[in-house]
Amino acid sequence: MTKKLPKFEYVPDPIKAGMMEESKGICDCCNENHYYICLGGIYSKHDDVINLCPWCVFSGKASKKYDGHFNMVDIDKNSMEPVVDEQGKTTGFRTIEGYQKPIGNDEIESRTPSIVGYQEQDWRHHCGECCDFHGRAIGNDFKNLSQSSKEILQENSYIDDESEIEELQDFGMQEIPYFIKFICRHCDTILLIYDPN
Ligand SMILES: [Zn+2]
Ligand SMILES: [Zn+2]
Repeated sequence: MTKKLPKFEYVPDPIKAGMMEESKGICDCCNENHYYICLGGIYSKHDDVINLCPWCVFSGKASKKYDGHFNMVDIDKNSMEPVVDEQGKTTGFRTIEGYQKPIGNDEIESRTPSIVGYQEQDWRHHCGECCDFHGRAIGNDFKNLSQSSKEILQENSYIDDESEIEELQDFGMQEIPYFIKFICRHCDTILLIYDPN
């Protein structure tokens, strides 16, 4: 009997989104038989953790046990300030005091499977909340993009004119491996993120 997958708040379809697949084995975290495996693993110093079942991700058991995270949420650039040492040298950056993390931040970091991509991709947020993740984009996603979606696309990719967007539209229903897709839960803005290999 295959157990029903848990419902991840920010991932409507984790299999379609490429985060997990059907596979029998033993979960490293709960030592139980599983029927699905999370493909992205966990970022933690326990690098021997390979097999994680969706239930150990969902419950937060795995992130707690291995003191790790699955994703990082993108931080707004204007909410960062430099950390300066006594000599006036910048040694790093921190978020400004009072910075409100987007809603869902902890859920994404500790209880949502990792995005499987070519690059390590930060989870995007919009309108104050983490977006839903939909995996690889398809050509049709590039049709009828709103102005703000176009701006987001231009900001994070090589794309800077309309003809390049039209080229991607030609993929139609086909997946484009080097773009991933988030959708805002509030205003439906589509965030297409470049993920080059
Ligand atoms: Zn498990
Ligand atoms: Zn929005």
